[in-house]
Amino acid sequence: MSRPLVVDSVAALRTQIRDWRRQGLSLAMVPTMGALHDGHISLITIALEKADRCIVSIFVNPTQFAPSEDLDKYPRQLAQDLDRLADAGAQLAFTPGVAEMYPAGFATRISVGGPAAGLESDFRPTFFDGVATVVAKLFLQASPDYAVFGEKDYQQLCVVRQLCRDLDLPVDIIGAPTVRDAHGLAMSSRNAYLADAELEVARQLNAILRRTAAALAAGADEDSATAEASRALVKAGFDKVDYVAARESLTLAPWRRDRDGRLLAAAWLGKTRLIDNVEVPSALADQATLRSFIAFS
Ligand code: AMP
Repeated sequence: MSRPLVVDSVAALRTQIRDWRRQGLSLAMVPTMGALHDGHISLITIALEKADRCIVSIFVNPTQFAPSEDLDKYPRQLAQDLDRLADAGAQLAFTPGVAEMYPAGFATRISVGGPAAGLESDFRPTFFDGVATVVAKLFLQASPDYAVFGEKDYQQLCVVRQLCRDLDLPVDIIGAPTVRDAHGLAMSSRNAYLADAELEVARQLNAILRRTAAALAAGADEDSATAEASRALVKAGFDKVDYVAARESLTLAPWRRDRDGRLLAAAWLGKTRLIDNVEVPSALADQATLRSFIAFS
Protein backbone atom coordinates (compact mmCIF):
# COMPACT_ATOMS: atom_id res chain seq x y z
CA MET A 1 0.00 0.00 0.00
CA SER A 2 1.73 3.17 -1.12
CA ARG A 3 0.74 6.60 0.11
CA PRO A 4 -0.60 9.09 -2.42
CA LEU A 5 1.51 12.07 -3.33
CA VAL A 6 -0.14 15.11 -1.71
CA VAL A 7 0.06 18.47 -3.47
CA ASP A 8 -1.74 21.68 -2.60
CA SER A 9 -0.66 23.98 -5.43
CA VAL A 10 -1.66 24.02 -9.09
CA ALA A 11 2.01 24.33 -10.06
CA ALA A 12 2.99 21.15 -8.19
CA LEU A 13 -0.05 19.33 -9.60
CA ARG A 14 0.95 20.27 -13.14
CA THR A 15 4.56 19.21 -12.60
CA GLN A 16 3.44 15.71 -11.59
CA ILE A 17 0.92 15.52 -14.41
CA ARG A 18 3.52 16.56 -16.99
CA ASP A 19 5.75 13.77 -15.70
CA TRP A 20 2.98 11.18 -16.04
CA ARG A 21 2.06 12.44 -19.50
CA ARG A 22 5.70 12.14 -20.58
CA GLN A 23 5.51 8.50 -19.55
CA GLY A 24 2.40 8.07 -21.72
CA LEU A 25 0.10 7.36 -18.76
CA SER A 26 -3.66 8.00 -18.81
CA LEU A 27 -5.28 9.97 -15.98
CA ALA A 28 -8.64 9.86 -14.22
CA MET A 29 -9.86 12.43 -11.73
CA VAL A 30 -12.31 12.09 -8.85
CA PRO A 31 -13.37 15.50 -7.49
CA THR A 32 -14.54 15.37 -3.84
CA MET A 33 -15.09 17.57 -0.83
CA GLY A 34 -13.39 15.01 1.45
CA ALA A 35 -14.80 13.21 4.51
CA LEU A 36 -14.36 10.18 2.28
CA HIS A 37 -16.68 7.19 2.56
CA ASP A 38 -17.28 4.00 0.57
CA GLY A 39 -19.18 5.95 -2.09
CA HIS A 40 -16.09 8.02 -2.87
CA ILE A 41 -13.88 4.93 -2.78
CA SER A 42 -16.09 3.22 -5.38
CA LEU A 43 -15.41 6.15 -7.75
CA ILE A 44 -11.65 5.71 -7.24
CA THR A 45 -11.94 1.99 -8.02
CA ILE A 46 -13.74 2.81 -11.28
CA ALA A 47 -11.16 5.52 -12.08
CA LEU A 48 -8.32 3.02 -11.66
CA GLU A 49 -10.06 0.51 -13.93
CA LYS A 50 -10.15 3.19 -16.63
CA ALA A 51 -6.83 4.93 -16.27
CA ASP A 52 -3.23 4.38 -15.15
CA ARG A 53 -3.30 7.08 -12.47
CA CYS A 54 -6.07 8.47 -10.26
CA ILE A 55 -6.05 12.04 -8.96
CA VAL A 56 -8.48 12.76 -6.12
CA SER A 57 -9.17 16.40 -5.33
CA ILE A 58 -10.27 17.25 -1.80
CA PHE A 59 -11.64 20.77 -1.65
CA VAL A 60 -14.65 22.07 0.25
CA ASN A 61 -15.70 24.53 -2.43
CA PRO A 62 -17.06 27.73 -0.86
CA THR A 63 -18.65 29.00 -4.09
CA GLN A 64 -21.22 26.20 -4.07
CA PHE A 65 -22.44 27.00 -0.55
CA ALA A 66 -25.01 29.73 0.07
CA PRO A 67 -24.30 31.97 3.11
CA SER A 68 -27.01 30.12 5.09
CA GLU A 69 -25.53 26.68 4.36
CA ASP A 70 -23.12 24.39 6.21
CA LEU A 71 -19.72 25.49 4.80
CA ASP A 72 -18.12 26.01 8.24
CA LYS A 73 -19.64 22.87 9.69
CA TYR A 74 -18.86 20.62 6.71
CA PRO A 75 -16.72 17.68 7.97
CA ARG A 76 -12.99 18.04 7.34
CA GLN A 77 -10.68 15.08 8.14
CA LEU A 78 -7.68 15.18 5.83
CA ALA A 79 -5.42 12.71 7.71
CA GLN A 80 -8.13 10.05 7.70
CA ASP A 81 -8.93 10.79 4.05
CA LEU A 82 -5.30 10.28 3.02
CA ASP A 83 -5.29 6.88 4.77
CA ARG A 84 -8.39 5.90 2.79
CA LEU A 85 -6.79 7.09 -0.46
CA ALA A 86 -3.73 4.95 0.27
CA ASP A 87 -5.96 1.90 0.80
CA ALA A 88 -7.89 2.65 -2.40
CA GLY A 89 -4.68 3.01 -4.44
CA ALA A 90 -5.13 6.63 -5.59
CA GLN A 91 -1.75 8.03 -6.63
CA LEU A 92 -2.32 11.75 -6.06
CA ALA A 93 -4.34 13.88 -3.64
CA PHE A 94 -4.84 17.48 -4.70
CA THR A 95 -5.72 19.45 -1.56
CA PRO A 96 -5.68 23.15 -2.47
CA GLY A 97 -6.63 25.86 0.02
CA VAL A 98 -9.27 28.43 -0.80
CA ALA A 99 -6.64 31.05 -1.73
CA GLU A 100 -5.08 28.68 -4.28
CA MET A 101 -8.42 28.08 -6.01
CA TYR A 102 -9.83 31.58 -5.59
CA PRO A 103 -6.98 34.07 -5.25
CA ALA A 104 -7.84 37.64 -4.29
CA GLY A 105 -9.60 39.33 -7.20
CA PHE A 106 -11.11 36.13 -8.59
CA ALA A 107 -14.11 37.29 -10.66
CA THR A 108 -15.37 34.55 -12.98
CA ARG A 109 -18.37 32.27 -12.66
CA ILE A 110 -19.63 29.65 -15.07
CA SER A 111 -23.38 29.37 -15.40
CA VAL A 112 -24.91 26.20 -16.84
CA GLY A 113 -28.50 26.01 -18.13
CA GLY A 114 -30.34 22.93 -19.40
CA PRO A 115 -30.19 20.20 -16.74
CA ALA A 116 -29.22 22.74 -14.06
CA ALA A 117 -32.69 24.32 -14.21
CA GLY A 118 -35.18 23.39 -11.48
CA LEU A 119 -34.88 20.66 -8.82
CA GLU A 120 -31.81 21.64 -6.73
CA SER A 121 -31.64 25.08 -8.34
CA ASP A 122 -35.12 25.95 -7.06
CA PHE A 123 -33.76 25.65 -3.52
CA ARG A 124 -30.04 26.34 -4.02
CA PRO A 125 -30.00 28.91 -6.85
CA THR A 126 -26.23 29.51 -6.87
CA PHE A 127 -25.17 25.91 -6.26
CA PHE A 128 -24.54 24.66 -9.80
CA ASP A 129 -22.70 27.85 -10.85
CA GLY A 130 -20.29 27.10 -8.00
CA VAL A 131 -20.01 23.44 -8.98
CA ALA A 132 -19.48 24.23 -12.67
CA THR A 133 -16.83 26.84 -11.89
CA VAL A 134 -14.80 24.60 -9.62
CA VAL A 135 -15.13 21.54 -11.88
CA ALA A 136 -13.99 23.55 -14.91
CA LYS A 137 -10.99 24.81 -12.92
CA LEU A 138 -10.10 21.31 -11.71
CA PHE A 139 -10.28 19.93 -15.24
CA LEU A 140 -8.09 22.73 -16.62
CA GLN A 141 -5.63 22.29 -13.76
CA ALA A 142 -5.33 18.50 -14.01
CA SER A 143 -6.34 17.85 -17.67
CA PRO A 144 -7.58 14.33 -16.93
CA ASP A 145 -8.75 11.94 -19.65
CA TYR A 146 -11.63 10.76 -17.46
CA ALA A 147 -13.51 12.03 -14.44
CA VAL A 148 -15.82 9.92 -12.30
CA PHE A 149 -18.94 11.40 -10.67
CA GLY A 150 -21.56 9.65 -8.55
CA GLU A 151 -25.17 9.17 -9.59
CA LYS A 152 -25.92 10.00 -5.95
CA ASP A 153 -25.77 13.64 -7.09
CA TYR A 154 -27.67 12.88 -10.27
CA GLN A 155 -28.45 16.44 -11.36
CA GLN A 156 -24.82 17.40 -10.75
CA LEU A 157 -23.67 14.54 -13.00
CA CYS A 158 -25.97 15.82 -15.78
CA VAL A 159 -24.72 19.38 -15.27
CA VAL A 160 -21.07 18.31 -15.50
CA ARG A 161 -21.75 16.38 -18.73
CA GLN A 162 -23.44 19.51 -20.16
CA LEU A 163 -20.52 21.70 -19.03
CA CYS A 164 -17.99 19.48 -20.83
CA ARG A 165 -20.09 19.32 -23.98
CA ASP A 166 -20.72 23.07 -24.10
CA LEU A 167 -17.17 24.18 -23.30
CA ASP A 168 -15.45 21.43 -25.32
CA LEU A 169 -13.64 20.22 -22.22
CA PRO A 170 -11.96 17.03 -23.44
CA VAL A 171 -12.83 14.92 -20.40
CA ASP A 172 -14.80 11.69 -20.60
CA ILE A 173 -17.38 11.81 -17.77
CA ILE A 174 -18.19 8.48 -16.14
CA GLY A 175 -21.29 8.14 -13.95
CA ALA A 176 -20.98 5.69 -11.05
CA PRO A 177 -23.82 3.91 -9.21
CA THR A 178 -24.82 5.10 -5.75
CA VAL A 179 -23.27 3.18 -2.86
CA ARG A 180 -25.75 2.55 -0.02
CA ASP A 181 -25.68 1.14 3.47
CA ALA A 182 -27.37 -2.19 4.17
CA HIS A 183 -30.69 -0.36 4.66
CA GLY A 184 -30.59 1.50 1.35
CA LEU A 185 -29.42 4.87 2.70
CA ALA A 186 -27.10 6.53 0.18
CA MET A 187 -23.71 7.15 1.76
CA SER A 188 -23.02 10.84 2.23
CA SER A 189 -20.56 12.92 4.19
CA ARG A 190 -23.59 14.75 5.59
CA ASN A 191 -24.93 11.52 7.16
CA ALA A 192 -22.42 12.27 9.93
CA TYR A 193 -24.80 15.04 11.06
CA LEU A 194 -27.60 12.55 11.74
CA ALA A 195 -28.47 11.31 15.24
CA ASP A 196 -29.40 7.60 15.56
CA ALA A 197 -33.16 8.25 15.49
CA GLU A 198 -32.73 10.46 12.40
CA LEU A 199 -30.73 7.72 10.67
CA GLU A 200 -33.71 5.39 10.99
CA VAL A 201 -35.90 8.00 9.29
CA ALA A 202 -33.27 8.76 6.63
CA ARG A 203 -33.28 5.08 5.63
CA GLN A 204 -36.92 5.43 4.53
CA LEU A 205 -36.03 7.87 1.76
CA ASN A 206 -34.75 5.29 -0.70
CA ALA A 207 -37.52 2.79 0.08
CA ILE A 208 -40.18 5.43 -0.61
CA LEU A 209 -38.50 6.49 -3.86
CA ARG A 210 -38.23 2.88 -5.04
CA ARG A 211 -41.86 2.25 -4.24
CA THR A 212 -42.87 5.41 -6.13
CA ALA A 213 -40.69 4.58 -9.14
CA ALA A 214 -42.25 1.12 -9.28
CA ALA A 215 -45.73 2.68 -9.20
CA LEU A 216 -44.78 5.10 -12.02
CA ALA A 217 -43.34 2.26 -14.09
CA ALA A 218 -46.58 0.35 -13.55
CA GLY A 219 -48.63 3.29 -14.91
CA ALA A 220 -49.48 5.47 -11.87
CA ASP A 221 -50.33 9.13 -12.49
CA GLU A 222 -47.15 11.21 -12.08
CA ASP A 223 -48.59 14.09 -10.00
CA SER A 224 -50.46 11.79 -7.64
CA ALA A 225 -47.52 9.43 -7.20
CA THR A 226 -45.03 12.20 -6.39
CA ALA A 227 -47.49 13.93 -4.05
CA GLU A 228 -48.07 10.61 -2.30
CA ALA A 229 -44.29 10.15 -1.97
CA SER A 230 -43.98 13.58 -0.29
CA ARG A 231 -46.73 12.66 2.16
CA ALA A 232 -45.05 9.31 2.87
CA LEU A 233 -41.75 11.08 3.61
CA VAL A 234 -43.40 13.40 6.12
CA LYS A 235 -45.21 10.46 7.69
CA ALA A 236 -41.89 8.62 7.98
CA GLY A 237 -40.50 11.54 10.00
CA PHE A 238 -38.93 13.97 7.50
CA ASP A 239 -39.49 17.56 8.56
CA LYS A 240 -39.81 19.10 5.11
CA VAL A 241 -39.76 17.89 1.50
CA ASP A 242 -38.17 20.23 -1.03
CA TYR A 243 -39.20 18.12 -4.02
CA VAL A 244 -40.02 14.68 -5.34
CA ALA A 245 -39.99 14.83 -9.13
CA ALA A 246 -39.77 12.51 -12.14
CA ARG A 247 -37.54 13.64 -15.01
CA GLU A 248 -36.23 12.32 -18.28
CA SER A 249 -32.96 10.68 -17.29
CA LEU A 250 -30.55 12.14 -19.85
CA THR A 251 -31.70 15.77 -20.06
CA LEU A 252 -33.78 16.15 -16.86
CA ALA A 253 -36.59 17.51 -19.05
CA PRO A 254 -40.14 16.58 -17.95
CA TRP A 255 -40.55 12.83 -17.73
CA ARG A 256 -42.10 10.84 -20.58
CA ARG A 257 -43.22 7.28 -20.12
CA ASP A 258 -41.53 6.14 -23.33
CA ARG A 259 -38.11 7.33 -22.12
CA ASP A 260 -35.94 6.18 -19.22
CA GLY A 261 -36.69 8.35 -16.24
CA ARG A 262 -35.21 9.30 -12.92
CA LEU A 263 -37.12 10.04 -9.75
CA LEU A 264 -35.27 12.64 -7.67
CA ALA A 265 -35.95 13.96 -4.18
CA ALA A 266 -34.59 16.29 -1.52
CA ALA A 267 -35.90 16.36 2.04
CA TRP A 268 -34.90 17.76 5.41
CA LEU A 269 -34.32 15.97 8.67
CA GLY A 270 -33.80 18.67 11.26
CA LYS A 271 -30.94 20.80 9.91
CA THR A 272 -29.71 18.11 7.51
CA ARG A 273 -30.79 18.08 3.89
CA LEU A 274 -30.69 14.69 2.16
CA ILE A 275 -30.97 13.94 -1.56
CA ASP A 276 -31.46 10.69 -3.40
CA ASN A 277 -32.70 9.39 -6.75
CA VAL A 278 -33.67 6.14 -8.43
CA GLU A 279 -34.24 4.93 -11.95
CA VAL A 280 -37.75 4.84 -13.46
CA PRO A 281 -37.69 2.26 -16.24
CA SER A 282 -39.33 3.32 -19.50
CA ALA A 283 -42.67 1.80 -20.50
CA LEU A 284 -40.72 0.50 -23.47
CA ALA A 285 -38.45 -1.60 -21.24
CA ASP A 286 -39.13 -5.26 -21.80
CA GLN A 287 -41.56 -6.88 -19.39
CA ALA A 288 -38.93 -9.10 -17.75
CA THR A 289 -36.84 -6.01 -16.87
CA LEU A 290 -39.90 -4.25 -15.46
CA ARG A 291 -40.92 -7.29 -13.40
CA SER A 292 -37.45 -7.67 -11.91
CA PHE A 293 -37.31 -3.94 -11.13
CA ILE A 294 -40.68 -4.00 -9.37
CA ALA A 295 -39.83 -7.22 -7.49
CA PHE A 296 -36.62 -5.61 -6.23
CA SER A 297 -38.43 -2.45 -5.08
P1 AMP B 1 -18.83 15.08 -2.46
O1 AMP B 1 -17.57 14.84 -1.69
O2 AMP B 1 -20.08 14.89 -1.67
O3 AMP B 1 -18.79 16.37 -3.25
O4 AMP B 1 -18.89 13.94 -3.56
C1 AMP B 1 -17.82 13.70 -4.43
C2 AMP B 1 -18.25 12.70 -5.46
O5 AMP B 1 -18.64 11.50 -4.81
C3 AMP B 1 -19.47 13.15 -6.27
O6 AMP B 1 -19.28 12.76 -7.62
C4 AMP B 1 -20.60 12.40 -5.63
O7 AMP B 1 -21.69 12.17 -6.49
C5 AMP B 1 -19.91 11.10 -5.27
N1 AMP B 1 -20.65 10.40 -4.22
C6 AMP B 1 -21.05 10.90 -3.02
N2 AMP B 1 -21.74 9.97 -2.33
C7 AMP B 1 -21.78 8.86 -3.12
C8 AMP B 1 -22.35 7.56 -2.98
N3 AMP B 1 -23.04 7.21 -1.91
N4 AMP B 1 -22.19 6.67 -3.98
C9 AMP B 1 -21.50 7.02 -5.10
N5 AMP B 1 -20.93 8.22 -5.30
C10 AMP B 1 -21.07 9.13 -4.33
